[in-house]
Amino acid sequence: MSSSTLNSDTPLSDTFHRQVSYARIAVTGECNLRCAYCMREEHDTQSPGTSRMSFTELTTLITVLAEAGITKIRLTGGEPLLRSDIADLVAAAKNTPGIKTVSLTTNGLLLDRRLDALLSAGIDAVNLSIDSLRADRFLTITRRNEFKRVKANLDRLLSLGSVPLKINVVMLRGINDDEIEAFTNLTREPPISVRFMELQPFDDHQIWRTGKFLGMDKIRELLYSVHPQMEELQGSGTEYFSFTLPGYRGSWAIIPAYTRNFCSRCNRLRVRTDGHLVSCLYEKEGINILAAIRKGESREHLLELVRQSVRQKPEDGKTTDRGESSMGTSMSEIGG
Ligand code: SAM
Ligand code: SF4
Repeated sequence: MSSSTLNSDTPLSDTFHRQVSYARIAVTGECNLRCAYCMREEHDTQSPGTSRMSFTELTTLITVLAEAGITKIRLTGGEPLLRSDIADLVAAAKNTPGIKTVSLTTNGLLLDRRLDALLSAGIDAVNLSIDSLRADRFLTITRRNEFKRVKANLDRLLSLGSVPLKINVVMLRGINDDEIEAFTNLTREPPISVRFMELQPFDDHQIWRTGKFLGMDKIRELLYSVHPQMEELQGSGTEYFSFTLPGYRGSWAIIPAYTRNFCSRCNRLRVRTDGHLVSCLYEKEGINILAAIRKGESREHLLELVRQSVRQKPEDGKTTDRGESSMGTSMSEIGG
């Protein structure tokens, strides 16, 4: 059957009438940093019992997702830039009928090597994660002495200004919570967004239980203490509050994870590094679409797996039995 006859005209909706249009795909579990809140130093980055999804498997997957009604793809991981074919993947996703935007979440370390190819491939947006603007703290958080390179790559992105950029900062009590001004200063000239993120309970050694967690109300309080004059903007679906100051071209936002529930507005599906579709961060099992692709199952079968995953989307992930069980899994495998 041709893809045009399969391409869905009806939106992909779950049983709670949420339209699912966005897929985050963890294209590798490997990483060149070791952020303390994400994985242990000795974290085994190979997907258990399976090999990394190949280029062809990923493009098949993206085609099926698009046919099911997904319009927006984010490539993440692990560190997606560790794949030497990442720009080709972006180009292939961009050329997939039905896909409107393709973005990337990266730690930025390999951007010097990959940025030009990504721009040529038509990448629509980049989220760069950097939790400190101080080399010593960057080393403490990531366990790698790579601040200079990441910062230089961030500066290049900022000076280019040709691709929409968001900076992800996980807020860690007593570690980087005094850097709000340094981060918001980045938004003075370029129209970028800094997202102060709550720590999530997904890391393989549960650092979030060790007092580093800063809830969104505390983050908000800190932001107001630094910028009493800041103005609140309308936040997007996942942003609790979005702010700016007169004279600033950019903005900053709080991304709550644990203390507030956005389930009612969730439009996401995830594909883990092991090729399982999960319709919720808290879903433990998922549906193994990679195994079906490897078995050469038909497009109709693969489409049905996507729909089945969406039908399984819980109304509220944290209240399901599955909630606690997935918390020892690193975000690098779930696809943060
Ligand atoms: N390696 C890339 C990066 O760091 O941007 C992409 C994958 S990483 C899992 C995606 C995002 O998840 C990053 O912004 C990272 O800071 C965030 N993340 C990872 N573990 C987290 C946790 N336990 N709580 C909150 N955010 C987390
Ligand atoms: Fe790697 Fe990203 Fe996890 Fe840090 S947050 S260890 S960069 S996958």
